[in-house]
Amino acid sequence: MHSQQQSPYQIQGLHTLAIAQEFGLPLYVYDAAKISEKIELFRSSFRGVNLKIKYAAKALTNLSILKLMRMQGVDVDVVSVNEARLAMLAGYVPGQIMYTPSGNSWAEIQRAIDMGLRINVDSLPLLEQIGQVYGPTVSLCLRINPSVADGGNIKIQTGHANSKFGIPNDYRQQIVELVTQYGLNIVGLHVHTGSDFKDAHTFLSGANVLFEMAADFPDLQFIDFGSGFKVAYREGDYVTDMADLGAKVSAAFAAFCDRYGRDLELWFEPGKFLVSEAGHLLVGVNVVKQNPTRTFVQVDSGLNHLIRPMMYDAWHDIVNVSNPGGAPTLYDVVGYICETDTFATDRMLPQVRMGDVLSIENAGAYGYSMASNYNLRERPAEVLVLDGEAHLIRRRDTFEDLTRGMVDVPELATLETI
Ligand SMILES: *Cc1c(COP(=O)(O)O)cnc(C)c1O
Repeated sequence: MHSQQQSPYQIQGLHTLAIAQEFGLPLYVYDAAKISEKIELFRSSFRGVNLKIKYAAKALTNLSILKLMRMQGVDVDVVSVNEARLAMLAGYVPGQIMYTPSGNSWAEIQRAIDMGLRINVDSLPLLEQIGQVYGPTVSLCLRINPSVADGGNIKIQTGHANSKFGIPNDYRQQIVELVTQYGLNIVGLHVHTGSDFKDAHTFLSGANVLFEMAADFPDLQFIDFGSGFKVAYREGDYVTDMADLGAKVSAAFAAFCDRYGRDLELWFEPGKFLVSEAGHLLVGVNVVKQNPTRTFVQVDSGLNHLIRPMMYDAWHDIVNVSNPGGAPTLYDVVGYICETDTFATDRMLPQVRMGDVLSIENAGAYGYSMASNYNLRERPAEVLVLDGEAHLIRRRDTFEDLTRGMVDVPELATLETI
């Protein structure tokens, strides 16, 4: 597999500035080679097990990205029926799509069942409802909350005892009762401990909860360990050591299969891990504004395009693409939204001038997919660099896009100015 050193200035040999020139700013650019490299790294870390990768579509939800995943033999994990519909437009068949609701409406669950998606059940009431209406006719996976606290920011932890996600493992008895009462067909157990867990040890404590519970379910086909792999946002960040994790989890899984008496599939649902590093948000500098205490770089983007810094206090490296040789200077890089809207505080960058192009790195995951039209701003275009060529994979919003859903009430049209 060819893999090249990631350079913010060049993406697969194309100059970032040339891409910006061609498609305009602000712009999301994704490097397909980086995504392939991550898929390879993932696969090579888990050896000797029957591995299935289910890309978590919510991280970066674009038709072309889903097609790219499918071409590479990666299945998909969705959290809404609409994500599943998009996956099917990308060529996936329902059996390749895992549907993981979190308190979704019964109407939507029924739709997901009718579509033939793999259903991941996240609560006892839902398990009972499915039992009453469908009985043993649907194959189900159970999302278990292992009551293991791990991960980074509390906002992205999902496997702790107070989290809304999944069925607490304390309710094992109630689960078994419902499964018996309705003759439910449990084919998978799932755990997703949230993003940014630190090491194999804590990961395995969640895994062990599933291994133990598996004894109650003789017809399992797979165990799904969700995701939460940490990626490096800045130099020196801890990252999930994939080789170490892969070796330990593969060994533990093989031993579990021995005890269970059958070889099951081992599923993962990486989102961020596969797409984060592939993404660059290119922005233009509108104004460089000197205040008595700080210097602000004001760019043509904001939390409407990349909310992670404001929502998760996330660090994103920033590169001055158009003036890499400028004298190092300290800046606050801020957005144009009428809110406190900061990408970076006290950031040392090569001198920034009006009109410079900056690249906000690691912007592939939860960037565009969380973008909004706040302040009635257009969302950026998206470009995928594939085999050395830049392809538009979503056009920039237009004013018409922003007003399309608004309904003009005739009664308001006749108002006269007072
Ligand atoms: C969000 C999510 C993922 C992906 O998490 P990452 O941290 O982006 O890898 C996987 N599985 C489920 C159920 C999720 O909700």
